[in-house]
Amino acid sequence: MKKDTITIDDLMDKVDTYIKDSKEREKILDAYYYAKEKHTGQYRKSGEEYITHPLNVALILTSIYADYECLQAALLHDVIEDCDVNIEEFKEKFGPTVYKLVDGVTKLSKLHFSTDNEYLVEYYKKIIVGMSEDVRVIIVKLADRLHNMRTLWATPVEKQKKKSKEVLEIFAPLAHHLGIHKIKSELEDLSLRYLKPTVFYDIADKLNKTKAERDTYVYEMQEEVSDLLNLHHIPHQIKGRAKSIYSIYNKLDKGKKFSDIYDLLAIRILVDTEQDCYLALGLIHSKFRPLPKRFKDYIAMPKPNMYQSLHTTVFGIDGYLFEIQIRTYEMDEIAENGIASHWAYKENGGSTKTANLQSVTTQKLQFFKEIMELSNDKMSSEDFVNSVKDEVLNNNIYVFTPKGDVFELPKGSTPLDFAYKVHSKVGETTVGALVNGNIVPLDYELKNNDIVKINTNKSAHPSKEWLNIVKTTGARNKIRSYFSKNEKEVLIERGKDFLEKELRKRKIPLNEFYSEDKIKEVYKNLKIDNLDDLYYDIGSNKHTSNTVINITYGEKVIEQPKLLKNIVKISDTASDIIVDGIDKIKVSIASCCKPVHGDDIVGYITRGNGITIHRSTCRNLASMDDRCIKVSWDSTPTNKYYSDLLIRTDTLDNKLADITSAASKISVSINSIKTISREEYATYEMEVVVKDLEHLNKLILDLNNLPYITSVERLIQ
Ligand code: MN
Repeated sequence: MKKDTITIDDLMDKVDTYIKDSKEREKILDAYYYAKEKHTGQYRKSGEEYITHPLNVALILTSIYADYECLQAALLHDVIEDCDVNIEEFKEKFGPTVYKLVDGVTKLSKLHFSTDNEYLVEYYKKIIVGMSEDVRVIIVKLADRLHNMRTLWATPVEKQKKKSKEVLEIFAPLAHHLGIHKIKSELEDLSLRYLKPTVFYDIADKLNKTKAERDTYVYEMQEEVSDLLNLHHIPHQIKGRAKSIYSIYNKLDKGKKFSDIYDLLAIRILVDTEQDCYLALGLIHSKFRPLPKRFKDYIAMPKPNMYQSLHTTVFGIDGYLFEIQIRTYEMDEIAENGIASHWAYKENGGSTKTANLQSVTTQKLQFFKEIMELSNDKMSSEDFVNSVKDEVLNNNIYVFTPKGDVFELPKGSTPLDFAYKVHSKVGETTVGALVNGNIVPLDYELKNNDIVKINTNKSAHPSKEWLNIVKTTGARNKIRSYFSKNEKEVLIERGKDFLEKELRKRKIPLNEFYSEDKIKEVYKNLKIDNLDDLYYDIGSNKHTSNTVINITYGEKVIEQPKLLKNIVKISDTASDIIVDGIDKIKVSIASCCKPVHGDDIVGYITRGNGITIHRSTCRNLASMDDRCIKVSWDSTPTNKYYSDLLIRTDTLDNKLADITSAASKISVSINSIKTISREEYATYEMEVVVKDLEHLNKLILDLNNLPYITSVERLIQ
């Protein structure tokens, strides 16, 4: 049993080791005296004075170098709930930040609901609110729960089990995802002790019995490795490494035998630089044969909770297997304290530190982004809780892209889940998957450390069958929304087709029908305000094409079509174009599809305005078919050509600088560039000036090679 009766002096001794500002220390003491007074006369179930609990919670937090506000909140965390406290007075005394932290923690312990499920829903929501406002709320709560778990022996068995289950379901995974290994592994060991005492004590017993023997081997191995590194002048420290009982339990639970667990013999090497990590690894591998497939480079590919280290297993002295971790001191700090290692930024002023901790949380932790995404999805509270629990917090596997990016997925995920997680566009165009170099079916169950390559095809699209395959809510929602969007798109497409066929049949020029005053009359008449709705109404048979056309044209048929001069931009490109059999004719480039020298082109004979040149893929040509004429390019271009590009990215970061520099590298000038969408990801529209098609294609290729660019398209207006 841990010694629980600590005093404020014990706490302050710890605080003094890293909080140097005397005002901050003063504030911690203030909080202590206030809490002590408020808790006077209250006792813990263990029989001790109540104040020992907040003191211990604060002490736990000093082990991860929590800041003074966090320590104040720890000392005060139970006064609002348990004591008669005037909230205004509290805010006045300790300030709004500490109040918010205490209030956040209080709200987490104050939930009472009739059913377990209702309770969980509220719990998760509160955790998410707490975390998104100030991650310190969750860190204080973790320390609070850890101390309660340490003193759980004083509560009835039934409550012990309930609390322990909750810890394994919620708190240990939270600590894991925040990277606070210290707190996570103690929480897990304590839970196992209450949930399965026989197993727990059995493992502890076996570990103790083999300890002396293991220590000898570990010591010898440490010496050998240390000599090796000294010989090559790599400054280092080596630690033996105690394995947590819970992690051994997990391996035994998966069917391993106690004697087979490799990492019972484990050492950790700490060095100064990343380069030394790899040097040390090379030296070790050259002396001790590595066990195949056990090497992991989490330095180049950090885990989603920011963990970095090299892992390898080698045949060490006497042929025993040793698990070796190699990392820098800084990586070790992050491995132990995770997000909490980011308080230590030595900036002045508390707010800067907090902002830092919070911004690391929101920017760097994948699980945080995921929870936020889920909370934005429209789903029932129950689905939400299950998704957070099953897909974000528990039972996760790590898989890699061929480039080595790590993705965390729930157990049971398929290549499709992975594809959708990489990007919805990747998901939607998936045609196959390779895992570790082998072709697998799309419903293959991914395993930890699989390397997954997704094959895509631009013209491929999702299948409804996928809904039965995917495991994650994220992928399922994206597939569903694809289909609901797509069905609408199909009807819009069909409506447009119907309408324009009818217009051609009646020889009504499209640009006239769509001209502003005419189309406004149509909108007004049908009580709509955009073309998509118009097409949709026709496509879904709400109105026939003729009814729509008759709004502005009546029943009459127009004989003489007016011409499409609006879409034509005059330029003197004549010298680059050869029109069969005709000399000296006015030629201009169509501004709808902007062909560049080298494109497949078609000429269109306008009335009185010469010939306009379109790309053969331009959809405006479809309505002008009977006036088309064969044209071709002169062999060498003399003009400059304009082209409109639509550039899609998978980021919201501003990439304009990168894009423009890619263009200027190959002497493409940019006429205009603008961001046209910032909803989910940034999309840009850019008009460039190029020599010819080859020049343009080179630009498109270079842009496509930028990692965050998902597609580059030439626009046809
Ligand atoms: Mn408490």
